[in-house]
Amino acid sequence: MKQSGQANQMRIAIIGGGVIGCLTALYLHKLGAQPVILEKGEAGRESSWAGAGILCPIHPWLYPDSFTQLIDASLNLFPAMNEMLERESGLKTEWQRSGLLIPLFADDRIHHRQNALQWSKRFAWNVEELDAKQSCELEPMISDQLSGSLYWPKVGQVRNPRMLTAIKKALAKYHVPMHEQAEVVGVGVDGQGAVANVKLANGTVMAVDAVLLAAGSWSGALARQLGLALPVEPVKGQIVLLKDKPGKIKHIIKHDDVYLVPRMDGHILVGASMERVGFKPGMTESVVNNLLESTYRMIPGLKDVAIVKQWMGYRPGSPDGMPYLGPVEGVPGMWVATGHYRNGVALAPGTAELMSRWIMGEEPTLDLSDFRVNRPIVHLDKVGFPAV
Ligand SMILES: Cc1cc2nc3c(=O)[nH]c(=O)nc-3n(C[C@H](O)[C@H](O)[C@H](O)COP(=O)(O)OP(=O)(O)OC[C@H]3O[C@@H](n4cnc5c(N)ncnc54)[C@H](O)[C@@H]3O)c2cc1C
Repeated sequence: MKQSGQANQMRIAIIGGGVIGCLTALYLHKLGAQPVILEKGEAGRESSWAGAGILCPIHPWLYPDSFTQLIDASLNLFPAMNEMLERESGLKTEWQRSGLLIPLFADDRIHHRQNALQWSKRFAWNVEELDAKQSCELEPMISDQLSGSLYWPKVGQVRNPRMLTAIKKALAKYHVPMHEQAEVVGVGVDGQGAVANVKLANGTVMAVDAVLLAAGSWSGALARQLGLALPVEPVKGQIVLLKDKPGKIKHIIKHDDVYLVPRMDGHILVGASMERVGFKPGMTESVVNNLLESTYRMIPGLKDVAIVKQWMGYRPGSPDGMPYLGPVEGVPGMWVATGHYRNGVALAPGTAELMSRWIMGEEPTLDLSDFRVNRPIVHLDKVGFPAV
């Protein structure tokens, strides 16, 4: 494997053209490396397209502190990354701080108030506790049955399909090679056991100095093919899209089993199921009905709003809800950045920044030991895999 002294000649195969692979490739290019993206289908069309683009974990207080530190590091990079993407692509990603509201009802299935307030204080996340009247003033369509709410005014969102298009445009501008319909089926090593090439399904063998496994939900199976144990599995999520007048719903609203994400043009994403069913395409009527019922209970006025689209995607799940980041022990040149589960868009700039520098020889500035590839498998309740 070439070291950073020869950085400008370092050829790095990125397996997977999702937000993680594509953004890391862009950052590697900016550091002078020669990344090449290998994507089995169309880049940016899997989880990274399907997600809701909320830039805050669902219930971050349920994770270890190291996860919040990684999220904070990534979110701090979002404004500059977004500015760079919009400048280099000429597109708007619709990144905005629309704020996040968690309404509180007497019959809530999950009572978050105490943990949420403590976590926000510890990590200096600006939160406001609102009574029922203030909550209804802030979000007039919400049910007046609520007893109050928690409000994080600075939480952001991004229109992730647009972010992916912007990343792809920036990659094209810099002539970073992107091969679509190019499925990686193997990684070859040299006599010392270091990465030497990648093998594609069409028989092509490409000589490389390093490989980054960023294949989303497919990473676990591909890793097994490469002789590496990586417990990443798909967790299916279904989403329903409503279309209302712009500004009727103003904030991201999260409650028990559903969240709403209002886009600038009046679209409202209603998400998302958590299903451990493997790769099983298609929508399910009962799941969609559950999402809608939960929505209408919270915001009765949305009952009359048109459903314009439905889709699903596979989150790259991990047993503890956290990504795998770093080198593979014993295989020089082999790197992993996957398993971002419910938070891959929020974690994208942090992952790209940390991984690109690490691959190029710089030690990470953050303690990433909780995210190491060979950590013990621990199933974390509520943030890890859902029950089958
Ligand atoms: C319904 C839903 C809602 C979500 N909401 C949010 C949210 O609000 N906020 C947030 O931050 N995150 C959210 N996420 C999660 C986020 O979308 C993912 O964590 C993130 O997109 C993962 O990015 P990725 O690049 O690892 O995976 P992907 O986008 O899935 O990309 C992986 C790519 O690898 C390719 N690939 C696989 N195998 C191979 C191979 N052998 N050779 C070549 N290419 C291969 C695939 O075709 C795919 O394009 C959501 C996800 C879903 C499904």
